[in-house]
Amino acid sequence: MAERLLIRVMKGGNHAKIVTLNGKKITKMPSSLENLTSLRSLDFQNNQIFKVCPQLSTLTQFQDLKLQEFYCEENPLFQKQPIIADQQEDLWNLREITARFIMNQLEEKNSFIMHAIEEYPDIKDKISKRKRCVICGKSFLTTWLECVQFVSPSKAWKISKNLKLIPLRVLLCSQKCFCERGPNIFGIA
Ligand SMILES: [Zn+2]
Repeated sequence: MAERLLIRVMKGGNHAKIVTLNGKKITKMPSSLENLTSLRSLDFQNNQIFKVCPQLSTLTQFQDLKLQEFYCEENPLFQKQPIIADQQEDLWNLREITARFIMNQLEEKNSFIMHAIEEYPDIKDKISKRKRCVICGKSFLTTWLECVQFVSPSKAWKISKNLKLIPLRVLLCSQKCFCERGPNIFGIA
């Protein structure tokens, strides 16, 4: 149905700036969205959408930012439905263990490692892709726990007043840090 409604919008060309599909019982964002390259405001409030479609990222790419307003309240997107998961032991391969050791030594300014790493540009390049744990602040390379943290939106953001919490993707280095997380961080199964 959403596709049909959008096709109707697009009959007037691809230049629609505002699309409002509020309360239409839509379960999926229409794929034809990506054709609306002039879109500035998109309203999908009060629907049954549970996933943001990849086409939306086409419209919000940083180098070509067009979409300025996106309303998606009252969709299952933001429902918190936690389940208790089994805790598993951390299991890192040798490459990850070595990378974590080197990154920690570099952060502690170990002069031997700092000097040695200059001889290995490919290792420097790999380490440059490191990610940081939001709990302990330490670095990791290829193994992590993907979580979501619910935060209060910044006052500078132009969003609905009804939206009290926004989910942000955060990464944790280990089960140990997962056990020390705050009540607003949830693991993604
Ligand atoms: Zn950590």
